[in-house]
Amino acid sequence: QKPRIDFSETLHEKSCVKKVIGVVSGKGGVGKSFVTSMLAVAMNRLGYRTAILDADVTGPSIPKAFGIKERALVSDEGVIPVKSKTGIQMMSVNLLLEHDTDPVVWRGPILANTVKQFWKDVIWDHVDFMFIDMPPGTGDVPLTVFQSIAVDGLIIVTSPQELVSMIVTKAVKMAEMMNIPIIGLVENMSYYRCPDNGKNYQIFGESHIEEIAGQYHLPVLARIPIDPQISTACDRGMIEMLEGNWLDSTARTVEKMEEE
Ligand code: ADP
Repeated sequence: QKPRIDFSETLHEKSCVKKVIGVVSGKGGVGKSFVTSMLAVAMNRLGYRTAILDADVTGPSIPKAFGIKERALVSDEGVIPVKSKTGIQMMSVNLLLEHDTDPVVWRGPILANTVKQFWKDVIWDHVDFMFIDMPPGTGDVPLTVFQSIAVDGLIIVTSPQELVSMIVTKAVKMAEMMNIPIIGLVENMSYYRCPDNGKNYQIFGESHIEEIAGQYHLPVLARIPIDPQISTACDRGMIEMLEGNWLDSTARTVEKMEEE
């Protein structure tokens, strides 16, 4: 095993974060933010102290899915994350902007610095599991994030309409470079179950996730259907009320990291 290079920024002296899981995808719109949020909800339901760091600075969608209207408290000592209705701590650029609709028109280095500040200037209160909604792709910003924050594991989110094999290859290479273990793959928008006849339809084409996962010896953690309840709940800020158990077994896998 390669020695772990410690690029990491230190946390705020009053913070405590035990395990950090990065959620990545090849491009936007595959449901990476949904998977990050729903996984945090599932971990929280298991009784863990949970947090979300929204590193997708130019497309922050976490606060909206949780229906958060308030703003984070910025003091001389540090930034206090906002807590969701069920107690998930979260930090996102939208919690600092005056209006949700303000665009973030910063260049790469500033974006990366913002994420670093979410890590070191926020007072994270005894977090068992933190999920990071990473910016899509393998560009400059995600790379800097990985170099600054000690991520313990990665989850790759794909959808059948993507060039999944290329995305997985890139993510695997990036993870190897950074020496971060990959926990597994989540396929979102895999199929649609017709409520009239109970049949599954593969709207975005046939899935190749099992073959690709096999190639890299990675587990497929979940296959999530297209479900209008998901988009409605995210739109209305009610993700915590969603009853789907799509990510429960993924949460159980993440839970095992605690013992390591
Ligand atoms: P990303 O973070 O990858 O850009 P999002 O999580 O923001 O993607 O999802 C994009 C849109 O698709 C959102 O409106 C979300 O509510 C919706 N969505 C995500 N996953 C599903 C799903 N399985 N079924 C229905 N809608 C979904």
